[in-house]
Amino acid sequence: MSIATPRDKTNRLSSTRVGGKMTADYWDNIFTAKERGKHVVWYNGSALNPIFQAAGLEWCHGEAFAARLAAQHLEEPAQAAGSEYGYIGELCSYARTHLGCAVLTQKNVNERESGVVGMLDQQELAAKLPAPDFFVNGYAGCSTGQQWDAMTYRVFDRKLPIFNVSIPMLWGNKPDAGYMRGEEWNEASTYVEGQLRELVKFLEQQTGRPFDWDALSESMSYIKKASRLRLDAMELCTLAPTPATYWDWVASIAPINFLPGNQALVDYFAGVKAEIQQRIVDGVSAVANERYRVYFDGIMNWNKLGFLTRKFAEYDVAVVAGRYTHESFWQEPQLIDVDNPLRGMGQHYLLCPLNHGLKNLQELLLKRLDQYSIDGIAFHSTRTCRAMTNPQSMLAKAAERERGVKSFVFEGDVADASFYNDELFDSRLEAMLEAIDVQRMKTMV
Ligand code: SF4
Repeated sequence: MSIATPRDKTNRLSSTRVGGKMTADYWDNIFTAKERGKHVVWYNGSALNPIFQAAGLEWCHGEAFAARLAAQHLEEPAQAAGSEYGYIGELCSYARTHLGCAVLTQKNVNERESGVVGMLDQQELAAKLPAPDFFVNGYAGCSTGQQWDAMTYRVFDRKLPIFNVSIPMLWGNKPDAGYMRGEEWNEASTYVEGQLRELVKFLEQQTGRPFDWDALSESMSYIKKASRLRLDAMELCTLAPTPATYWDWVASIAPINFLPGNQALVDYFAGVKAEIQQRIVDGVSAVANERYRVYFDGIMNWNKLGFLTRKFAEYDVAVVAGRYTHESFWQEPQLIDVDNPLRGMGQHYLLCPLNHGLKNLQELLLKRLDQYSIDGIAFHSTRTCRAMTNPQSMLAKAAERERGVKSFVFEGDVADASFYNDELFDSRLEAMLEAIDVQRMKTMV
């Protein structure tokens, strides 16, 4: 007896494939950086790439590479190398993957220098990163980042310079504190702006060239335009049924997070917006038979992107927005002054969705619940990312208390598929949808 495959009820945006191609080209370019005589910086955390672009560097974002490997199901060799080096499975799986890449890359460098070739399969993606000339760390709201770079520094024999951009937590405890307001916000903005000026000096020392401030203004002007287009397109998805989902926004994280600020980036987001507008005109929805609108809290399980996209749609669920996609990645473009961009850049780094106390997170969540007419929340309890997971139970309580919005929790991880359990996912999602149905019936009586 053959088992029927359920109909795929998803309808992904075709324009995001353009972003996928741009991202693949970007990585191919990185792999040849050394042959082209370029300086390479490895960095983690905040989107510092416009500063690197203006400094004439090639940049490699640790989490982005780890996420890419996981999305392609190619993370295992790197994770095995990390594990052999001594990193346990409870360590952030982005860090574990990227540290494994560092071990493999360093092995490659040593073998090349010693004339031993072929010890590693050169095709293995995890080993293809060009060795860094220096590191920059810019982590908000997570203590793993600094330790991750400190360990990478050791893997590379403690020889490479490292610069740490310190980004303070926005606790939001003072009476005047709130999202982008209050004394704490202003003081922290000034502090991070100062840190970025120090970073520029460090880059000038490393490259031996004066920093190109005009190039920074230019790339930030493109990023500002791209961001506005992205936000306009997201806003169109407040319509029900939604013309695009959270998964489409996940697919376009790489372009907005680390591709060069240029006209191609603007054109890409203009294409995404145009496709969504056309869908609205044509009455095309992203999920067949949308019955529930869900918010996603947590970083994605990159190994399971396609799987979860189809899974939610099978239950007639349109995942329409999320903390990671909607509260990150140049999401407040009005803060960017292209003639003097450092302050607005630093402010975006502070606005990382891991960097807020509970008060701000609740404010943001309730805003999105109202804006997108959310019925339920999927809390991805991202096993090795405590920074994302810590406030989730309090957010769930706030959503239920303030808006009557139901939620469920499922375990998984950013780049380690072994923490996901399909039966638990199904039963918890079903329980939440039943609770929503009951609530709807009661309001109809
Ligand atoms: S623990 Fe979380 S925030 Fe920190 S590096 Fe890992 S995934 Fe990122």
